Order: sequence, then C-alpha cells, then structure tokens
Amino acid sequence: MTKDLGITVKKSVDFSDWYTQCVLKSGIADYSPGKGFIILRPYGYAIWENIKEILDDQFKKTGHKNGFLPVLIPESLLTVEKNHFEGFMPEVYWVTKSGNNDLGEKLAVRPTSETLAYSMFSKWISSYRDLPLKLNFWNSALRAEIKSTKPLIRNSEFLWQEGHTAHSNEKEASDEVRMILDLYKMLIEQYLAIPTVSGLKTDKEKFVGAKYTTCLESLMPDGKALQMATSHNLDQNFSKPFEIKFLDKDTAEHFVWQTSWGISWRVIGALIMVHGDDKGIILPPKISPTQVIIVPIYKDESKEIVKQKAYELENKLKDSNIRAYTDDRDEYTSGWKFNEWEMKGVPLRVNIGIRDIREEKVELIRRDTRERFYVKEKDLVNETLSILENIQSNMYNLAKNYLVTNTRNATHLDELLSLLDSTGGFVACSWCGKRECEDLVKEKTTADIRIIPFNTRKNISSCIACGKEGTTEVYFGRAY
Ligand SMILES: [Zn+2]
Repeated sequence: MTKDLGITVKKSVDFSDWYTQCVLKSGIADYSPGKGFIILRPYGYAIWENIKEILDDQFKKTGHKNGFLPVLIPESLLTVEKNHFEGFMPEVYWVTKSGNNDLGEKLAVRPTSETLAYSMFSKWISSYRDLPLKLNFWNSALRAEIKSTKPLIRNSEFLWQEGHTAHSNEKEASDEVRMILDLYKMLIEQYLAIPTVSGLKTDKEKFVGAKYTTCLESLMPDGKALQMATSHNLDQNFSKPFEIKFLDKDTAEHFVWQTSWGISWRVIGALIMVHGDDKGIILPPKISPTQVIIVPIYKDESKEIVKQKAYELENKLKDSNIRAYTDDRDEYTSGWKFNEWEMKGVPLRVNIGIRDIREEKVELIRRDTRERFYVKEKDLVNETLSILENIQSNMYNLAKNYLVTNTRNATHLDELLSLLDSTGGFVACSWCGKRECEDLVKEKTTADIRIIPFNTRKNISSCIACGKEGTTEVYFGRAY
C-alpha cells in the first residue's frame, strides 16, 4: 500500500482530518456530488445491516411491526402541531413543483414522520381494541445542514429508524419510552462497545412537541459529546391536534398516549471515532462484517497448498458462526493486504504460510492491541472465539475508562469554562432548573446541558450559574 492510501495523519494531531480519512479510505462512505450528502458504500452498509438486524429482532420481539411511509408530507399536516413545525422549519426541504406544474400545496421532504404517521393513526384507531399500536419504519430523513457537515455525524440525509406508538394509558407509554432506550443502550454498549450515559434532555433540548426526551450520550476522543439515540414521550401533545381518540371499555372517549424514538447511522461515526487508531478504524467483533481475515502467504510453488489450507480454516471458522473471509487475491502482496485490513479494522487476522502448515500452527494478530502470537491449528476455532470475546470487552473497557476519566465536577462557572477549554468531556454541575441559567452557561462557555443523568445526585451544591439552590445534577459538554 502506498503511503497516501493509508491514514496519513495521527488521531491525536488532527482528529477531524483523521476521522474523515478513516471514513473515506476504509470504504465506509464517500461524499456525494450533492453538497451535504454522503453515499454509504458496501462496507459501511454492511455495518448498518448488522445494526439493523440486531434492533429489528428486538423490536419484533417486543411487539412492534414494520411499515413504510412516503417521503413527502403535505405542508398542512406538518403545521398541525405548532411547536413541532416551528422546530423543524429551518431544516425542511420543500417540493413545490411536479414536472413543469406548480403544486397547489407544498410538500415537505420528511424531516421526521410524526405528523404523517399520526394523521393515519386517527383513521386506524377508534377502540381500545386497536391499542397499543406499535409501528416502526426503516427509512431516511432529510434535514438541511447549514453548519459544517461531517460524514455520518451531520449530513442532510441520514439512514435511521423511527418508531411510533400509541397507548391506552400514560404508564404504558412511559414504560415504552424507557424500554426502547434500554434496547438502544444494549446495542450501543454490548455490540458497539461504546459506553453511554442515559438520562433526560432539558426542556430546551428536548424533541419539539414532546413532553420529555430520554437520550443516550457518549463522549468522543476529542472531548466532545455525541447524542447517540433518543426516545420521546409525546404524551397527548400530538393525539389532541390529530384527534387520535379511542373508546375505552367504559365507553368513554380518550386521546391516546404516544411515543416516538429513533437511532441513526451516526452511531457508525461514533464507532470510528471512539475505537480507531493511527492505522485506521477498529471494529468490535460483534458488529464487524468480517471478524477474522485470513491471509494466505505463498510463493508460486506453494500457492495452491497454502490457499487450500486457508479455505479449510475459513470453513472451520464459519462452521462455528465466525464471520471469516480469505483474502486470496494474487494481485496484491501480503504486506498490502495486512495494511488494508488493518485500516478497515477487522478485529483478528490469521496469517498462514507453508512453514505454518508443516508445523500445524497459524499466526494470529489482534487489531486492537496489535499483539501477534501462534496457536496450534487444531485449537484455532476455540482460540478465536475466546480472543474475539476478549477484544470485545477490552474495547468496551478502554472506552469506559475514557468516559469515567473525562467526567469531572465543577462548582463555579470559571471552573466549568476552564475544564471545557483544557480537557473537554462531561462536566457535572448543579443546576437550579431555570432556562435563564442554562442559556447563560451556553453564552459564556458554548456548552449545553447534554443530559440530566437518571442516576443523578440531588442538591449537590448551588446552581453553577445563579448560585441559588441547585435542584439537580446535569452534565454540560460541547457537542457535535
Ligand atoms: Zn440557576
């Protein structure tokens, strides 16, 4: 591999350039000719498919069904819930023509589907027998990004899923909100090996139209926070304007209680940021499309025998449900292949050559620690299973350690500002709950309240902004 095919900048020197190089050079995504848009390439899409499969399975197990919604939403629908409309207005793309004809009513290109889905809910729901209604949609959403864009983190169109549910009582809806947040947490922590903080958004930061928003926040290696997923309790804020009513068993008519929730391909961006190193990305085994890459090392005279052995090992690993693949391309050298798979972040590499075959051993190279060692060929499957497990937990533990180390406390505004400027990360502060104080901190430090953690301490000290009695602990941070 020539020099500029690999990553040419250190993660610690220019994080932003390093990240972009990782996304582009590993074959995850590329820029689209349309400004602000990206194209997910097969390697990136394979990761998305794995994420989709894990979540889709869980959604179905918990009683949700998939559907499809059109991408265009009539303007009149989008304006039904006023706050919701005003919140999304600056980011909406509009379709005003069909062919040469002006449309009578403008059509919004889906920024999110609450309004469209709920106009249908009012048609589909009339009795308690129709509830709960639990739907999910795998689609894309479009929100014009005016600010700087970053592949997978901030783009004008992104892949995601959006769930929409309706319930006959308030408790069922609030339970749904938490259950979904826990599913997201399971995916992000157990599969993507990224630790999260779970909690609530403030009223200022919540989803427009929601009663409250629960979320998962993570910390990136440059000290910035990244919102990973959100799950909203919509209460009756949409069911009233959309008139989604049902007759209960007591024959009284009620408005339904609703939730909506989503997670996007942004988590792939987080995956790259959190785990990668100067050589490229590092994928946790549980989410990696290829878990073990086998590189046969041969000269012309040993080619057939070494390749045959590589295929044999590949099949053995596959028989144990390990996603293995043999890179048998003759047109590239072994060294070139090593670099390429290292950059693409495959968790474990197997090198096999003619001498190894004679000695009935193979060489293993871990991507995370870059350790190399030999194992007996007959032990390959068992060793691989235990190493992959070890890599998975090692990656999570490293990231967890970073999150814990970079969550600090501050009791004064100056202290908060100096922490944000020097180390970044989350800064836990006491807050009185007033919007003015939240705004003041934003003005002085450019940091937001990222999250009110569920396991927050109460009354830890006086409010970071006004000095009056603090009522809750919040995490401030600068964010993507
Ligand atoms: Zn205050």
